[in-house]
Amino acid sequence: MDSCLFCSIAKKEIPAEVIYENTGALAFLDIYPMAPGHTLVIPKRHVDTILDLPEDDFVSVFKAVREVEKMVIKSLKPDGFTLGINQGKVSGQEVDHLHIHIAPRFFGDGGKSFQTIVSNIPKESIKEIAKKLKI
Ligand code: 5GP
Ligand code: ZN
Repeated sequence: MDSCLFCSIAKKEIPAEVIYENTGALAFLDIYPMAPGHTLVIPKRHVDTILDLPEDDFVSVFKAVREVEKMVIKSLKPDGFTLGINQGKVSGQEVDHLHIHIAPRFFGDGGKSFQTIVSNIPKESIKEIAKKLKI
């Protein structure tokens, strides 16, 4: 894909604070960190979303996530992590190259849990929804 910011970072055409890399994935610090150590993990090959991610890159990307967590634990000693993918404009995805946010969490950081992002309680029961999903 032409003119993708994260492809350019993956190709080292644009500078970034790269902290980890393996054959298929790259991890670099978010330029506007929401927490110390806020890192983005991307597949080196361009895909918009996880739906298009080839099997090999799955392994590379999740290995990178694990390694970054280890690095952050060692150096910054967080109390936990929030991991997230914004998928689609509705969720806030601004860069159309799959990326996993790794946000180190610290007691008293003012953040909340993943379940507080949306409050769109379904009218149907979870049984009914499960039935639809399994059709
Ligand atoms: P999204 O909203 O797409 O999930 O998140 C995109 C993230 O990329 C944002 O958190 C933003 O701060 C980060 N970002 C945008 N441009 C750059 C850049 O040029 N370099 C780095 N390192 N991060 C960027
Ligand atoms: Zn890209």
